[in-house]
Amino acid sequence: ILGLETFQRAHLLEYLHRLQDATGGLVADDLVALAALMGIAPVEVAEVASFYHHFDCVESPDDLPPAVTVRVCDSLACAMAGSEALATALDALDLPNVRIQRVSCIGQCDAAPAVTVGQHVVQRASLENVQTAIGAGALSATAATGIDYAAYRADGGYELLKACHDDDATATHVLTQLDASGLRGLGGAGFPAARKWRIVAGEPAPRYLVVNLDEGEPGTFKDREVLERDPHRMLEGALIAAQLCGCEAIYIYLRDEYAAIRRQMQTAIDALLADPPVPVPLIELRRGAGAYVCGEESALIESLEGKRGMPRLRPPYVAERGLFGRPTLEHNGETLFWVREIAERGGAWFADEGRHGRSGLRRYSVSGRVAKPGVYLAPAGITVRELIDEYAGGMAEGHTLYGYFPGGASGGMLPARLADVPLDFDTLQPHGCFIGSAAVIVFSTADRARDLALNTMRFFAHESCGRCTPCRVGTDKAAGLMAKPVWDAELLEALGEVMRDASICGLGQAAPNAMACAMRYFPEEFADG
Ligand code: SF4
Repeated sequence: ILGLETFQRAHLLEYLHRLQDATGGLVADDLVALAALMGIAPVEVAEVASFYHHFDCVESPDDLPPAVTVRVCDSLACAMAGSEALATALDALDLPNVRIQRVSCIGQCDAAPAVTVGQHVVQRASLENVQTAIGAGALSATAATGIDYAAYRADGGYELLKACHDDDATATHVLTQLDASGLRGLGGAGFPAARKWRIVAGEPAPRYLVVNLDEGEPGTFKDREVLERDPHRMLEGALIAAQLCGCEAIYIYLRDEYAAIRRQMQTAIDALLADPPVPVPLIELRRGAGAYVCGEESALIESLEGKRGMPRLRPPYVAERGLFGRPTLEHNGETLFWVREIAERGGAWFADEGRHGRSGLRRYSVSGRVAKPGVYLAPAGITVRELIDEYAGGMAEGHTLYGYFPGGASGGMLPARLADVPLDFDTLQPHGCFIGSAAVIVFSTADRARDLALNTMRFFAHESCGRCTPCRVGTDKAAGLMAKPVWDAELLEALGEVMRDASICGLGQAAPNAMACAMRYFPEEFADG
């Protein structure tokens, strides 16, 4: 099944995927056999396999799950679009050899409610089209149709990489323009990209580049959009970054839910390697396994090393000691996607964009109660009102703006009266919110802020890696309290404070944001308690 003679410890997740793809699940005896082949303890394999949501660990072949898994997204945009009713209706069908799972965001918020049947995505899912997908055996990945290698080369693609390779002056030019652009990491942390490159380049070799394509933040689907359209542009950005920072290998970690992109990306890498414009470093495309926390940079590195995706304590930072203990440049896909265009058009061009005193451009994932959900390239600093009116076709018919999440499930939420706050790094903190990966989820008077906040807390409770108590216990406890008709505000605030102050990573620290915002900005929903 594995088709291998030698085993690398770091590839454990890949082996588990192959095993599960071939046999329908991970049977205990098979895991013991895999451990023996790898020369590691069975418990090491078992603890990794049981950590990730997408692995089905069972005792015996008799316990294997049904042949077809239907995953119904129950995160914010899909919940607003009626995913629970859909899941309940699918449950009621009681289809043979089919199991229905309610899962966290699958990155299709612009086509809510979204469902996967096997690896096939069903957008704007209904009872009818999901049944059709099941009946058609449409279990393979939905096709992605991005620009191919020849077309990208014909459009001048990889010329910048070549120039950086051949000529130090071009490499310096790229870094100078990146600096001038003010480009910041677009995965959420917002660290200045050029500064990060310099830090990693200044660390001792060997160094690695990690591309974080695990976008799992509910409401975020911008990386999916750019990768579907133009995978080589991101690859070229990654290769230029690797060239300038002296990285010996590139590891691309892609969320498991993006099966079509995985195929397209592998095709893009194979085409590049078959006819490389310059000598290129090792490029490995790795597959996540359904754990949101792996979007956190150090958890992702643990996962790449074949371990459970648990965030590390810092310092040391990944730029100093990251993958395999080596200095690591870790970037979100969209950040790298910008490199070629900024180098070609100049950093000043990028920096001169922006609105309301802010600088730059970024891709906003807009979903929820708008007429045209989608990914919109818009100025940094645009307000949600402008984003809705100028880009997203206004509010959906029959809906009136009530509030919005400016940065996915973790970035908190704001009421309609604050719809004119510029959306950017640093502008939302005074309101208790963050832009994160610019996932803007719009809700209307048809929704209740408290229900949406509960949705986010349940999400964090489900996705907590369990390493630290404030997050593991706090999210669970808060979700239980928030499900009651009357919220115990004092207790929830105290819980939120502990989660914020004492959690190891951003997941636990951000988990109480929406809850706190619900109480702060939507007091009318709590008038009776
Ligand atoms: Fe894990 Fe949560 Fe602690 Fe992060 S905050 S390390 S997700 S338990």
